[in-house]
Amino acid sequence: MSGPSLNTSELFPWLSEHWSFFMQRLESDKLAHAVMLEGPAGCGKTALARAMVARLLCREDLPHACGFCRSCTLLAGAAHPDYFELQPEEDSEVIKVDQVRALIAKLDLTTSISERKVAYIHPAEAMNGAAANALLKSLEEPNGNTILILVSNNPGRLPVTIRSRCQAISVNQPDPRLVLEWLENSSGKAPEMVKTAIRAAGGSPLRAAEFLDSPGLDAFAQVRAGLATLLTKPGSVSQLSNELSALNPEDLWRWLSLCSGEVIKSIMTDQPLKWLPAKPSLLSKPLLELQRLADINRQLVTTQVRGDLLLQVWLIRWAEQGI
Ligand SMILES: [Zn+2]
Repeated sequence: MSGPSLNTSELFPWLSEHWSFFMQRLESDKLAHAVMLEGPAGCGKTALARAMVARLLCREDLPHACGFCRSCTLLAGAAHPDYFELQPEEDSEVIKVDQVRALIAKLDLTTSISERKVAYIHPAEAMNGAAANALLKSLEEPNGNTILILVSNNPGRLPVTIRSRCQAISVNQPDPRLVLEWLENSSGKAPEMVKTAIRAAGGSPLRAAEFLDSPGLDAFAQVRAGLATLLTKPGSVSQLSNELSALNPEDLWRWLSLCSGEVIKSIMTDQPLKWLPAKPSLLSKPLLELQRLADINRQLVTTQVRGDLLLQVWLIRWAEQGI
C-alpha cells in the first residue's frame, strides 16, 4: 500500500456508519478474523479497506490510524512487515493458489511491529477455485492475531464456504442527495454538470467524480447526440456504431439504457428533452424493450459475446423508432 494512512475525516461522508460499525466491533473485540467489504464499484470500498488496514496496524489507540507512528509511516512507505496485499499479478486476472499459499506462510510467522498481521485481498472474486480452497483452510483455523480484509464487487462469484466465514460489510450506493452535496463541494462544478455526472455514473459517487475530471461527460454527450441524429438519419448506424465502440462498453450500455429511460419519461410527462430537440413521434413500449435490452447487454460485457454486433443490432432498432 502506498500513500498516506487515511483517517476518518478523510473518509467519504457516506462511509461514516460503516466506520463506526468497524470501530465498535474492533473495540469490543468482536471483529471477525475475516471481513468482506462488498458492493458495487465506485462507492469507496477501497478507501474503507485502506483506512481499516491502517487502523488495525497503527500502534496508537485512536478512533483512526494516527498517521505518524512507526507502523503508519512504514505502511505509507509500502514497507510494513506485518501487512500483505494480494491481488492478481501483472498480466493475469486471477489470484493463484501459489500466491495464497505464500500469504498463509507469511501470516503464520509472528508479528514484527504491530499487534496483528493484516492481509488485504482484492478483488476477492479473482481467486480461482484452488486459491479459494487454500484460503479456506486459513479461514477455518484462524491464527489469533491475523485479520483478513477481502474486497469484492461480485461476492456471488465466491464460494459460499468463503463468504460464510467472513463478516460482511455492505458498501452500497449512497443516498443520491449525499452524493450530490459531496460532489458539488469537492469538485466545485456547476450543479447541473454534477447531476449529469451522477446520472452517467449510474449513481456511483467515485465514478461520477472521475467523469467530472475526465472527458467522460463528453463521451456521454456524444452518445446522446448520436442517438438524436440516428432518429432523423437512420442510415448512419454503422458510423455511429464505429464511434461508440471505442467507449468503455459498460458505461456505453448504461448510457443507452439511461437515454431510453429519459425518452420514456419525456413521453409520459410530455416534457421535451434538451438533447432530443426535434421530438419525433416515439412510442414508449419499444423504448422500454430497448432499455431492457441495453441492461441485458451490459451484463454480457465480460463474456465472449460479440459486443460490436450487439451494439449494431441495438442501434438499428433505435433508429427504427424515428421512422
Ligand atoms: Zn499510527
